[in-house]
Amino acid sequence: MNRTIGVFALQGDVREHLRVLDGLGVETIGVRRESELDRCDGLVIPGGESTTMSKLARTFDLFEPIRHRIKEGMPVLGTCAGMIMLADRVEDGTADQETLGGLDITVRRNAFGRQVDSFEGDLDFTGLDAPVHAVFIRAPWVEQAGPGVEALATVEEGEAAGRIVAVRQGSLMATSFHPEVGGDDRVHRLFLDLIDES
Ligand code: GLN
Repeated sequence: MNRTIGVFALQGDVREHLRVLDGLGVETIGVRRESELDRCDGLVIPGGESTTMSKLARTFDLFEPIRHRIKEGMPVLGTCAGMIMLADRVEDGTADQETLGGLDITVRRNAFGRQVDSFEGDLDFTGLDAPVHAVFIRAPWVEQAGPGVEALATVEEGEAAGRIVAVRQGSLMATSFHPEVGGDDRVHRLFLDLIDES
């Protein structure tokens, strides 16, 4: 099926996501304005800085249009800051931090950062046969998830053991880590499957 996948391109590691998606043979587009969003069958919100992203989305008049598409059921993959953007509730956000919402989760920003800013580890991931090598960079974790939310991956050891770091709810998917780095395209493939289903 011919699909166009947008990557929210006002801030964050846009290029890395575009590279993975290009490698999967889908049509891609960087999204900076509403007319670009209109062409998308699905959207990726990358890692970066969620507070900056939400301000820029307001400035560039993308905030409400993306929210509207989410409500209509457009599939969205949020990674790291993108997960925060999709969360209905944020802990340790800034006072004026807004999110697009859609995922019935509470995320804690920079949750791992209290111990260590960045780390890597292998995670079992629902729907994938072999573990994913996950790179966490000042990552959030899911503090609480509503009944409609499926946990796709959980930290297995260390101080954060048991913390949910990947979720799905309807056509929305989010990871605390960065599936766009490290040369593994399987999480993006799962996202494309989700687009095909919807
Ligand atoms: N700490 C960042 C935020 O709050 C997220 C970090 C990332 O995307 N790598 O938005």
